[in-house]
Amino acid sequence: IASRFPEMGTTIFTVMSRLAAECGAVNLSQGFPDFQAEPVLFEAMHRQMLAGRNQYAPMAGLPELRQAIVDKVAALYGPRFDVESEVTVTAGATQAIFTAIAAFVRPGDEVIVFEPVYDSYVPAIETVGGKAVHAQLQFPDYAPDWARVKALISPQTRMIIVNSPHNPTGSLLSAADLDQLAELVRGTDIVILSDEVYEHILFDGEQHASLCGHPELAQRSIVVSSFGKTYHITGWKIGYVVGPAALMAEFRKVHQFNVFTVHAPSQLALAEYMQDASRHLGLAAFYQEKRDFFRRLLADTPFELLPCRGTYFQLASYAGLSDLPDRQFAEWMTREVGVAVIPVSVFYADGRDDRVVRFCFAKQEATLRAAAERLCKAF
Ligand code: PMP
Ligand code: GLN
Repeated sequence: IASRFPEMGTTIFTVMSRLAAECGAVNLSQGFPDFQAEPVLFEAMHRQMLAGRNQYAPMAGLPELRQAIVDKVAALYGPRFDVESEVTVTAGATQAIFTAIAAFVRPGDEVIVFEPVYDSYVPAIETVGGKAVHAQLQFPDYAPDWARVKALISPQTRMIIVNSPHNPTGSLLSAADLDQLAELVRGTDIVILSDEVYEHILFDGEQHASLCGHPELAQRSIVVSSFGKTYHITGWKIGYVVGPAALMAEFRKVHQFNVFTVHAPSQLALAEYMQDASRHLGLAAFYQEKRDFFRRLLADTPFELLPCRGTYFQLASYAGLSDLPDRQFAEWMTREVGVAVIPVSVFYADGRDDRVVRFCFAKQEATLRAAAERLCKAF
């Protein structure tokens, strides 16, 4: 059969996690916690299942969860989205992103993405016949170059995708960045898709600049988040989008025929669990401890650590210790050192390779220590 996507390979997260398992390596590649969420969350889901809440939720999500999301967003960022028409529960951020792209991007439209770019965006754009236009963040602090973005905007530009805190670099967009973006799109009909799945994971007192909190941009933005990151349950695959009713109506045209609706008992469990705001507000301190611990461990190796202002990923340059291209270096690390990492060049269309790899530190101390021991022994 002729392949629809002859050029498309397998996502790096599957490739590296599979190799890590095969080699018995400590898996710091794919981003997921290796510790448990609180039992009370599982108990809530169990209770909801036994209470018979096992049939289809409404297409946009259960009202209990939509209300909890709207309340959280209002408390954190200001605007109060309409529970009926401005919030939709999705099967994780991945589905939300794919659905948003399918809802807005027409064949031939251009979508500006920032590189290194999270790996699901460009395949989604290309699947619907759009064209990804790449703006590189500036190495090594990975700040956006807004003058460059301005030059890339054309009459075909339909969407700009931003991601802050940024995977894989851990960089953040500031309030001033959002103002610059607002200036660039003013007077156009460009839609912004804002991937904010790490909205609660920022360090050293940094504040998250959500597009929800920028009145001008919020009018043209679909903002995505994911419970997987916030509550240590990446396997549940539940997330959501918020945005103005007119955009949400377009989003739902696709969502209804993509998944129609998502797992009901977990929506109810999350609606309950979200009531305690300390659970998301405490996340930054929780991960800062892990980030600092991991950085201290790596200080004893020749890796050069790049800044990490948010997310649970740490970039490190290995330029001082190997000349291997980063894919080969990551494979060698996994096979020979026993620590799996993600090569960052896979997130560039032109294969740009700064000799940088990504470590995930959403792990128990023992896991991070085991990885560091292997690294110290090897280098
Ligand atoms: N966007 C970014 C930037 C991510 O890092 C991830 C996953 N880690 C996703 C989207 C997908 O999230 P989900 O697992 O909820 O689909
Ligand atoms: N987003 C996670 C990461 O960056 C992985 C999610 C996935 O495997 N698709 O590692």
